[in-house]
Amino acid sequence: MASWPVWRLRAPALLHVLITQAAAVGLVLPVLLLNSPPTAEEWFRFAMLGGTAAAVIIATSVSIHVRSGLRRDPWTVHIAYLAAGGLTLPPNLLVLLLLGPALHGVLDARPEPHRWLFVTAATTLAVFAARGIVGWEDPAWNPPLIVLAGATMLVVRALVVAGGRWLRDAAASRADVLGEPIDVLLGVVAVCFGGVLGVAVLREPEIAVLGGPMLALLDLAGQLPHWRRSAQRDGKTGLANALHWDRTARAELRRAAARRRAAALLLLDLDHFKRVNDQVGHLAGDAVLASVATMLRDSVRKGDLVGRFGGEEFVVLLPDACPEISRAVAERVRLSTAALVVSTRDTLGEPRELRGLTVSVGVASTVRFGYELPDLLVAADAALLTAKAGGRNAVEFA
Ligand code: GH3
Ligand code: MG
Ligand code: MG
Repeated sequence: MASWPVWRLRAPALLHVLITQAAAVGLVLPVLLLNSPPTAEEWFRFAMLGGTAAAVIIATSVSIHVRSGLRRDPWTVHIAYLAAGGLTLPPNLLVLLLLGPALHGVLDARPEPHRWLFVTAATTLAVFAARGIVGWEDPAWNPPLIVLAGATMLVVRALVVAGGRWLRDAAASRADVLGEPIDVLLGVVAVCFGGVLGVAVLREPEIAVLGGPMLALLDLAGQLPHWRRSAQRDGKTGLANALHWDRTARAELRRAAARRRAAALLLLDLDHFKRVNDQVGHLAGDAVLASVATMLRDSVRKGDLVGRFGGEEFVVLLPDACPEISRAVAERVRLSTAALVVSTRDTLGEPRELRGLTVSVGVASTVRFGYELPDLLVAADAALLTAKAGGRNAVEFA
């Protein structure tokens, strides 16, 4: 228990996680203890809804996770049937339905189980907040209230989860904390579908089965943000890949041009990197690339764009940086590279600590070369070649 990753969270993030979980348990326990036993009809509704959701999740787990080994995010489908349950089940069966996400987290082993538990607790709070709006004992079938309940479910969940992400990493981008528009759209679709499913299930519980294929489709659609993000990232370093970096850098330069703000481009190339591969091994080379990527991300501001340009070459766009600032950033990166200690293994599997890495950096500013990305890249590349020719481990300005 002492080795659980949750204890490594910073104090405010840990407090947020513990309060969220305590609030969820504090809400669920009285519901289980005080509510009267469900009727046979309510049990049947629960069985239809829960059974359909379970069948869909097991089927999509097999097709996405087990067969293709991809990590999946099943929250879209969980939100949909929980929204339906929130409208149609008594509170104690709603608690039982919330075991769906909890069990899923146990069966589908997660690298950080505390995160799954936390999101499950946040979802529990959101589901019961929505239930409070439509009516605790007997949900009112009043359309404006149902819409308000759906919105409450999404907003409460988003705020608790985003708060957790922000407390864990204040430097995370807005998209990492709040999600992207597609995440919001998927949440809205899931809740709306849950509402429609709830209305149908209340009339005829067996109708839940007809919702199955739609839940499955929703589950697949729920993977889109995850798949899109992986298509934009470089697998070895987690940085933006060359194509995605190019696209975002062009957009950022257009913005900088419109605002008449100076921007700068840094092109970095590790010195004698081939020696790492040749002397210690390619896996050690990969470990160096990952460490340099983390160092780069930590060395720049939130809005700066770091990407992997090619093999051992990286690019950074500093959207709001005068030449002096870009020189300072480049120098900082050069010194941080020299200070890196990379723990890895050599080709014999023996642990090794690599030190003494160096990098050469070419810098080009929009003040001199304008706001067209190709012009900046050509200029930074020329400066980089000069840095290499001058003996490496240097920053050269174009
Ligand atoms: P210089 O100081 O002139 O830049 O020398 P260098 O050895 O860094 O340059 P060179 O271009 O000769 O070698 C780059 C090496 O980077 C060659 C290639 O094997 C290695 N490389 C490229 N991509 C990867 C990768 O993803 N992983 C590993 N381990 N090595 C890579
Ligand atoms: Mg190179
Ligand atoms: Mg190199």
